[in-house]
Amino acid sequence: MENTLALDLTIEKTAHSRLSQVDLKQPIFGRTFTDHMLSADYMGGKWTNVRIMPYQDISISPALSAIHYGQSIFEGLKAYKNAEGEVLCFRPDENFKRMNKSAVRMCMPTIPEEIFMGGLRELLNLDRDWVPAGEGCSLYIRPVMFATDAFIGLRPSETYKFLIFCSPAGVYYSAPVKVKVETRYTRAAEGGTGAAKAAGNYAAAMYPTKLAYQEGFDQVLWTDAKEHRYIEEAGSMNIMFIINGTIITAPETDTVLPGITRKSVLQLAREWGVPVEERKPGVAEVIQAIQNGTLQEAFGVGTAATIAHIKTIGYEGQLYELPDVANRPFSNRVYQELEDIKRGRKADTRGWVMKI
Ligand SMILES: *Cc1c(COP(=O)(O)O)cnc(C)c1O
Repeated sequence: MENTLALDLTIEKTAHSRLSQVDLKQPIFGRTFTDHMLSADYMGGKWTNVRIMPYQDISISPALSAIHYGQSIFEGLKAYKNAEGEVLCFRPDENFKRMNKSAVRMCMPTIPEEIFMGGLRELLNLDRDWVPAGEGCSLYIRPVMFATDAFIGLRPSETYKFLIFCSPAGVYYSAPVKVKVETRYTRAAEGGTGAAKAAGNYAAAMYPTKLAYQEGFDQVLWTDAKEHRYIEEAGSMNIMFIINGTIITAPETDTVLPGITRKSVLQLAREWGVPVEERKPGVAEVIQAIQNGTLQEAFGVGTAATIAHIKTIGYEGQLYELPDVANRPFSNRVYQELEDIKRGRKADTRGWVMKI
């Protein structure tokens, strides 16, 4: 055991690293976890028991508040290895800030910066050999916080657990997707929890997504809850259209998750002089633009894929085919630029990369 200053953090290293059993070129994403995890407990009005320990199961009470009333939020971010073998993490400060916004919305305590950022740094430092170096590979990082009161009573929990654990990810190839404009179900309504990365949002999206799969689609295009006339998100990604040279994407309202990829793409677009309109694209506007040939690009943006090109849009039983992915200069360029920045192949002039 050793102690690190500033952050009162206890580190218990594993005696049996599992790294040699894992093929980092083809890890089983989401099922293979690195040797260690960060854990902290909220009790008596403060965060305590901050420690890094061997990755392990946790035991829970049947009355655990989170599984009954859903106070559970998470984040998702990635780390990469550059050519020198150094570990780079993309915009973790943004995930830290967003997690605390989610916490406020779900009536949960916020996490101090030294625990989230300091703990993440220590964890990545300890498990640095788990970050895959292969072309296209990454280490997916999952911070999560949930209510831990063993109490069957409807009120905000008084205790919480915060964890950060990691899963190595192989080459992520995102084939162009076929999406369905959802006009029956809703992901988020005004005044709801759509802007929070809260567990329940994803549970509620599963049934409409399953129906879309059964109809042969890969993903749902979420529309506004009131009229289903405006496009808000694509599955669990933000979505952008380019019509007549202008990027159109829904603004950060309480029905749209404020994506860090979205924010980064828009910043690059503005630096490159590409016009951006932050307003909800109309379904009719998009269909019309496809029909008259002014729709040039459509893509989802998020940490998992960075850019997911949309090849087909289904709406009211009709399928609309979009331009060939090879003829989409902006989304291809911005994908390459972001990959180069994240992997340290291009200088980080914007302070987006945390080097471990
Ligand atoms: C996480 C998420 C996004 C994308 O956010 P990134 O920070 O870019 O990964 C977009 N929409 C939803 C609903 C999400 O859960």
